[in-house]
Amino acid sequence: MTLLDIEDLAVTFPVEGGTDVPAVDSVDLQVEAGEIHGLVGESGSGKSVTARSIMRLLDDAEVSAERFDYRGEDLYAKSEAEMRSVRGDDIAMVFQDSLSALNPVMTVGEQIAEVVRHHGDVDESASLLSELRRKYVTGTSESAPSWRRAVELLETVGIADPEDVATSYPHQLSGGQRQRVMIASALGGDPSLIVADEPTTALDVTVEASILDELRRLCDEFDVAMLLITHDLGVVSETCDSVTVMYSGSVMEYGQTDQLFESPAHPYTKGLLRSIPERAPTEGELTTIPGSAPEPADRPTGCPFRDRCPAAFDACSEPLPEHVVEDGHVTHCHLYTEGDDPGDVSWDATIEMDGEATVDEATDRTTATEVTDG
Ligand code: SF4
Repeated sequence: MTLLDIEDLAVTFPVEGGTDVPAVDSVDLQVEAGEIHGLVGESGSGKSVTARSIMRLLDDAEVSAERFDYRGEDLYAKSEAEMRSVRGDDIAMVFQDSLSALNPVMTVGEQIAEVVRHHGDVDESASLLSELRRKYVTGTSESAPSWRRAVELLETVGIADPEDVATSYPHQLSGGQRQRVMIASALGGDPSLIVADEPTTALDVTVEASILDELRRLCDEFDVAMLLITHDLGVVSETCDSVTVMYSGSVMEYGQTDQLFESPAHPYTKGLLRSIPERAPTEGELTTIPGSAPEPADRPTGCPFRDRCPAAFDACSEPLPEHVVEDGHVTHCHLYTEGDDPGDVSWDATIEMDGEATVDEATDRTTATEVTDG
């Protein structure tokens, strides 16, 4: 079942007295129930803006879409009151910076318990009066079912000493512990979908690996889907069932993770994959895609990747086409138009990002030369 179904999303930030900033354009995104879907791209690709549009957290932006459905209902047709119940009950968000996302003057146990009280399916069996007495007369909520659930959730996300940690303030915890608290808090409302925006970026690699394992396990155990925003294809390969690759506000390619890793179709995806050390064409050498992504206001017409793409040719200044590579695997690239058989294209040569670009007169396409040692 498709949980989240977005078609043709465009997000623009108006600038008073200046040029509006088109952050995201023509984005399609689907997340199936129970899966982990990776949304990957470099900084400025529009992944976080797309994520925030799902929670309707873009107050200053103009958002439009052909379709923006969650469980078949248009999220943008809901009132703000209805959205408040969607946030947490149905869709929860884990932010990258846990220190600013958590309340510094509340213990983490209280913060999770609050989510459980508002959104979770817990029989509090406490009147407002007894709750107030617990909190302000005895100074604690620790006997409340929501508190006990908070401690349980901390244990579930791998916190070693959940009772102690529940009574701690965010600044008293390590980065890894805080990120686990954020995940516990997201689970507190029993959502069907968690949107996790770079949840492990600020952590060291061993903590990152353990939190990613935990996320994978929790999604299976709680039957929760996740949209995992990341710039790291290594994280995608370890964690995600399917993936959408974004570049400069547009979708370049999407499919099942093994489809993209085994047979990437888009030159940008190929370039990204070559930048993973294990997949570098020359052992021991890291390769990069030359240049940098354009500012939103300076994007070239047609394919936004064309100033960096060694395979760019005349047609690339036209609007991007959609090409189905195989069932569930789609790319947006002119190399596949005009009846071209992708098998005729020398993909390896085409994406030799380190090589000098040359023009093939027969096809009028720019291709790159092989990289030779020395
Ligand atoms: Fe974009 Fe053209 Fe390169 Fe395809 S070949 S990625 S459309 S510039």
